[in-house]
This record gives sequence, structure tokens and C-alpha cells, in this order.
Amino acid sequence: MARVNTILLGCIADDFTGATDLANNLVRAGMRVVQTVGVPGEPLAESVDAVVISLKSRTVAPKQAIEQSLAALTWLQAQGAKQFYFKYCSTFDSTEQGNIGPVADALMKALDADFTIATPAFPDAGRTVYQGYLFVGDVLLNESGMQDHPLTPMRDPNLVRVLKPQTQHAVGLVNYRATTQSAQAVAARFDELRAQGVGIAIVDAVGNDDLYRIGEAARELKLVTGGSGLAIGLPANFGIKPNVQAAQLPAPVGKRAIVSGSCSRATQAQVANFIQHGGKAIALDPVALSQDPDKLEHYRDQARLAVQQGPVLVYSTTTPDLLAEVQAALGAMQAGEMVEGWIASIACSLVQAGVGQLIVAGGETSGAVVQALGIEQLRIGAQIDPGVPWCHGLAKRQGTTLPLHISLKSGNFGGADFFTKAFEVLA
Ligand code: ADP
Repeated sequence: MARVNTILLGCIADDFTGATDLANNLVRAGMRVVQTVGVPGEPLAESVDAVVISLKSRTVAPKQAIEQSLAALTWLQAQGAKQFYFKYCSTFDSTEQGNIGPVADALMKALDADFTIATPAFPDAGRTVYQGYLFVGDVLLNESGMQDHPLTPMRDPNLVRVLKPQTQHAVGLVNYRATTQSAQAVAARFDELRAQGVGIAIVDAVGNDDLYRIGEAARELKLVTGGSGLAIGLPANFGIKPNVQAAQLPAPVGKRAIVSGSCSRATQAQVANFIQHGGKAIALDPVALSQDPDKLEHYRDQARLAVQQGPVLVYSTTTPDLLAEVQAALGAMQAGEMVEGWIASIACSLVQAGVGQLIVAGGETSGAVVQALGIEQLRIGAQIDPGVPWCHGLAKRQGTTLPLHISLKSGNFGGADFFTKAFEVLA
């Protein structure tokens, strides 16, 4: 029997890894968190402080993204959520059409909110915002590799400029002068911008202290938007402090595998590192697969066989040059969808073959894998690298239910040794 569970924070994330990343930060700040895959059909059975609904709305048409996000909002409102959080990528992944602006606009309207913030900064993962300019590590967003992203190439690091064409609201900036000073100074700047008719403000943050001040200042905002970093300052507004119980998961069982459909730089290094250290790896050839669908069964067999010997990596990860060739041959969106589908299918075979510990690299890829595995809810556990925790859930496919530890790694996250370190952390 589902019982009524009043949650404090209701979150809507535009992709699966982003949702996990947000949930991870909330767990670290002491909240018990469940991440759901899509909008749940019923109330939660488990009593938690926050729910993160993961959508796959980052690159769909704005109209669909709005519909999905509003459905999520309605469900979260029905669970009694006090505050709402629209989560997108810390690299502000979007196109001129959206979907950050259109979804923020729709949520504001539904919540009758005249002002919200846009805070992608996540200093622990190297994402900082200064004077509205987004840095990834030491370089500007448009020099970070994100300019070559397969679906959302980011070619302008100025977020005020990036957001403007996407939203009907006036866009403003809360810069470091307020965010380095005090929560009161940040709140005062919110009021000032609101009085000027600004509806959405990009907020600078270069360190966690800035995020704590922003979090405190955001206490009265019905809606906040941002990356996952913003989450570190919110639980304290509800009287919640960090505690170990928030991250507890069942003990791991089963074989180990990694599937990767991310072409981000960090993932390329992780794939190379795994192979260099003698890991068993199977590279997918998208053009060959598109010409001969029977090849998929061959890859599935190969992966099932290999995983009996030890951890196996199946990947489509490739360099920008080779990616461009595949996209030219198959079309960028079509190639993306096909590759996601193949990887998801291979992941399902691996779980059926006894994999109980699975790493998925790539945001969109993770969405496809989790959906194919029939996972509906994930309890969030301990962090592996900044932004990426282990999770635990049930894979429900074709009448069978298999418990699974799964880690969903957004492209640019994790150190070079992530694929080996993750299993060590879990063990
Ligand atoms: P990230 O988190 O690194 O952005 P995503 O999974 O979100 O990774 O996005 C990568 C996209 O690129 C996916 O749609 C994936 O299917 C696609 N992709 C991956 N490898 C290839 C490839 N070799 N050729 C074409 N598209 C690819």
C-alpha cells in the first residue's frame, strides 16, 4: 500500500544523469532522496525528504519538454512539495529554442512566480560562473569541448546572452559582488532585479560558500533553477544537516559492466584509461550497425561472454572527427538515437546475464538505458566522484525483477580512473 509522504523539495531534472547528480548533492547535504524515472504513476511508498523526477527533456522539442515538466510539477505538488527545483546541466546545455528558457517560463507561470534564478555553477565539478560567464575548469564553456557536443553545442560562454533568446522574461545578473558578500546581499539583489522587471537572473558562483549564500537567499523562492550545485545550500532551509544514513544502500551483488555512449572529453579519457589498464572493451561501429541490424546480436553475445571473465566495457565513445563522420553518414539526431538504442539493448542483455553492478556513461545514454531496463525508482547512495553516486533500484523487464546497483555518469564527470574506482568504492 502506498502511503502518503509529504516531501519538502520537489525537483524536475531534464536528464537522468543530471537528476542523479542533483540527488547526490541533496543526499550529501543530509536529505533522503528517491529519483524517479519519469513521472510516477502513484505516490511514493518510501518516506523521503526530496524527490527528483528525471525526464528526458533536454533535447526534445520545447513543447514536449514543457508538457513533461508540467506533468512532473503537478505530481510533486500533489506530494506536498514546499519548494521546486528545475535542474539542467551545469554546462547549460541548450539550443536557441531551449529547453532551459521555455521550461523555466512554463514552471514560473504554473507556480505564479514572477522571479527565479538560473545557477548552473558547481564548483566541486569545476563549473564556475563569473560575471555571467561560465567556466569549465580553467577555460570558458566554448573552449571546454562543449562547443563540439553532438546535440547541444555551446558556443557562447555568456549565459545572460545564451538565455535571452530562450525566455519571454527579461534576463538579469546577480554577480559576485552580491554572492561573495552575504545571503542578505543576494536577496537584496533579487529584489532589485525583480523591481526592474527581470524574471530570471543568472547568478555568479565560484565557490561553495557562494552557493550556501545563494541557497539561503533562495529560501522564499517558490522555484529555483540551476545545475546540481545550487542544491547544497537548500536542505539547511528545512533544518536538515549532513548525516550518513541518508546515503545507505543494500550490499552489491552480481557481475560488473560499463556501457558508454558519451563522446565527452572526460569519457574519452576514462575509456582510454580502462583499456590501457587491461580492461576488456568492445567498440561499437555505428555505421556498420546501421547497415546490418543483425550485428547487434553479435555485440550482445560478445558482451555476455566477456562479462563472465570480468568487468567489460561496451562503448561507442569516439573523437570529434570520427563522430562528425558518423553524423554526416547517418544524421546527428538519428545517429544519437540509434546508438542510444543499441547501447540500451546491450545493457539489458548484460543485466540478464548476471550483471548487478552497472556503470553508464552519457546523459542521454543513461536515460535510454534506464528506460530499457524498466527501472522506475532509484534510492541514491554514496558518491564515487563529484556529481556521480551509486544508486540502487529494481530492473523490471519481461516479468522478471532484478536488483541492480547502477551509476549514471554524465559525460564530463569523473576522473580518468572512474570505471575502476567506481567498483572499488561500491565494494
Ligand atoms: P554526454 O553526457 O557525454 O553528453 P550523451 O549520452 O548525453 O553523452 O550524448 C551523447 C550522444 O552522442 C548520444 O545521443 C549518443 O547516442 C551519441 N553518440 C555516441 N557515440 C556516437 C557515435 N559513435 N556516433 C554518433 N553518435 C554517437
